[in-house]
Amino acid sequence: MDKITATLQLKPKREKPVQNRHPWVFSGAIRQVKGEPQPGDLVEVVAHDNEWLATGYYNPHSQIRVRLLSWEEAETVDEGWWRGRLAAALARREALALAPETTAYRLVYAESDRLPGLVVDGYGDFLVLQALTLGIERRKEMVSGLLAELLAPAGIVERSDVDVREKEGLAQEKGVLWGEAPPEELVVQEHGHRFGVDLMAGHKTGLYLDQRENRALVGQRRFLEGKEVLNVFAYSGGFAPYAAAAGARAIVNLDSSAAALAQAERNMALNGYERPDDGYVVGDAFQVLREYRDSGRQFDAIILDPPKFAHSRRDVQGATRGYKDLNWLAFRLLRPGGILATFSCSGAISADLFQKVVFGAVVDAERDAQILYQMGQAPDHPVLLTFPESAYLKGLL
Ligand code: SAH
Repeated sequence: MDKITATLQLKPKREKPVQNRHPWVFSGAIRQVKGEPQPGDLVEVVAHDNEWLATGYYNPHSQIRVRLLSWEEAETVDEGWWRGRLAAALARREALALAPETTAYRLVYAESDRLPGLVVDGYGDFLVLQALTLGIERRKEMVSGLLAELLAPAGIVERSDVDVREKEGLAQEKGVLWGEAPPEELVVQEHGHRFGVDLMAGHKTGLYLDQRENRALVGQRRFLEGKEVLNVFAYSGGFAPYAAAAGARAIVNLDSSAAALAQAERNMALNGYERPDDGYVVGDAFQVLREYRDSGRQFDAIILDPPKFAHSRRDVQGATRGYKDLNWLAFRLLRPGGILATFSCSGAISADLFQKVVFGAVVDAERDAQILYQMGQAPDHPVLLTFPESAYLKGLL
C-alpha cells in the first residue's frame, strides 16, 4: 500500500543535517522533486549527486517538507515497519519501569522515538493519540490498529486539537479512535499519587506528564516539610499532592482556570488530603503575585510552572520579559532561605537563556540564590541527541 512515489534531490551543501540523522528536510533544501507525490506519501531523499540518503513522508503544505523515517536503503516502510518502531518505543518505556506506581506516561514521543508527528500517551487502560502531521494523520487508523494489537487498551482517544496542525494544513480533531470512550474522570497514579483526568477535555492529553520527575524532586520533605507553599500555574494540582505528602503546612494553588482548580481540590481529596489551610485562587498569576507583593504576603516555597510563553523564535523577546517578571515577583515573595522551583517549557528558550533570565530577576530583586538542581523533562519524553529541538522543558531549583 505504502509505495515510494517520488525522489527528492537536495541542493549541494544541504545534505549535512540528513547525514547527521536530523529528521527534518526543509523546503529550502530541496533542489528538485522527481515524481508526483501526494501529500503524506513516502518519498526518498537523495544528495545533489543522487547518493541515496533516507526515506520519509512528504507534505507540500509544510515548511518541513519531509519528515524522515529511515536511513537504511534496504528497509521498506510498510505496516510491519510501523509495528516494529512502535514495539521498540514501548519496550523502551517498559525498561523505564514506571509502573505500577505510575500509570500515566508517554509511550511514543514523536521525532525522539523516530516516529515523527506521533504522540501516544498511556493513561491506565486508555491511550491518547496525537497526530501532529499530515503523514501521521493519513496513517492514524493503521497506527491505532497496531497499538490496539500491541497493548490491548480499553480505548484509544484522539486529541489532535492542537494549533501546530495548522502548519501542516490540518484542522483540529478529537474523538474516540478505537474501542470504548473513557469515563469522564479516569483515575491514574503518578508515583503513587492519584489524579483524576478527563481525557476528552483536559489540557494536552490530560495531564502534564513531562513534569513527573520534577514533581517528585521538588516534593521532598527536605524542601517542603512544615513549609507554606505557593503553587503557581497549579492546573489540576500537579505538585500539590506531592507537597502535602512531604508535610507542607499549607499550599496555595493558583491558576486562571476555575475548572482546573476544582479538579485540583478533587485530586487532593482523592489522595485523602482534606486540608482546611490549603487555598485555591482563581486569577491571573502576574496580577495575583503583584497583589501579594503589595500586601507583604510571603511564602517559604514557590513553584512557577507557566504555560509556553514563546511559540516560536519571534516570541522570544516578549517571553523573556514574562519569565523575568514572574521570577522577579517570586524572589520578592520568598522568605529568606526559601525554595523556588521555576520552569520554562518554551522550546525556543534555551536552558542557557532561561538561566540568564532568572539571573536578571534575582539581581533586580536584590537577592542571592543558589542553583541546587537543574531540571528537564521526564525520561518518557526523551531528548533525541540528533534532534536537539526535542529538549524543551527546563527548570531550576
Ligand atoms: N503545574 C501543573 C501544570 C501547569 S500548566 C502541573 O504540574 O500539572 C500551566 C497552567 O497555567 C494551566 O493550568 C493554565 O490554566 C494556567 N495559566 C495559563 N495562563 C495563566 C495566567 N496568566 N495566570 C494563571 N494561570 C495561568
